[in-house]
Amino acid sequence: MRIVAATKNKHKVDEIQAITKEFGMDVVPRDIAGVPDIEVEEDGSTFEENSEKKAREISALCGEITIADDSGLMVDALDGAPGVISARFAGEDASDAQNNEKLLALLETVDEAQRTARFVSVITMIYPDGRKIVARGECEGHMIYQPRGNNGFGYDPLFVPTGYDRTFAELTSEEKNKISHRAAALQKLRKILQEQQL
Ligand code: IMP
Repeated sequence: MRIVAATKNKHKVDEIQAITKEFGMDVVPRDIAGVPDIEVEEDGSTFEENSEKKAREISALCGEITIADDSGLMVDALDGAPGVISARFAGEDASDAQNNEKLLALLETVDEAQRTARFVSVITMIYPDGRKIVARGECEGHMIYQPRGNNGFGYDPLFVPTGYDRTFAELTSEEKNKISHRAAALQKLRKILQEQQL
């Protein structure tokens, strides 16, 4: 079964492909499916809303089964920020480094015990007939004080998953793809598909 990935974020597409390959799914980047280079406006207030919007718009453009990932980091000491605006926390065209810098500045006076956080990924699958499947995955951890590691993307250099002493950016992609929020969401999606015999 061929599935189109709604995201243009290459890091996300790579992770989704690596994770779903294990399930025997064939996820292709949207340009391969002939989707024009447009931006879907992420104006929802939840990961679920934005994920569904992205999946529906891209599925309508290619006419194929499409999955979208809307994801982000939720830091407890910041009441769940950056949350749905994770990609543009430090401004509309902010780089990962600028977003990380802003987050570290806000956490400067927050002590170790209060630095708990989780990554969230909501995957929405839309069929050409409009049917929808939603799966949410989370990965618990804590925020450190200085970026560490060169793998991954986004807030990976600041986040240490629970049970590890390395950041997501210090794990190999194989290690991250076993425990990440994206892996959890995609595993849930797979289970739903199996239960519904789709
Ligand atoms: P969106 O889903 O396109 O709105 O953006 C998600 C944003 O959340 C990314 O740009 C990153 O800043 C952050 N994010 C989501 N997943 C990850 C991850 O696996 N590692 C690091 N940052 C992530």
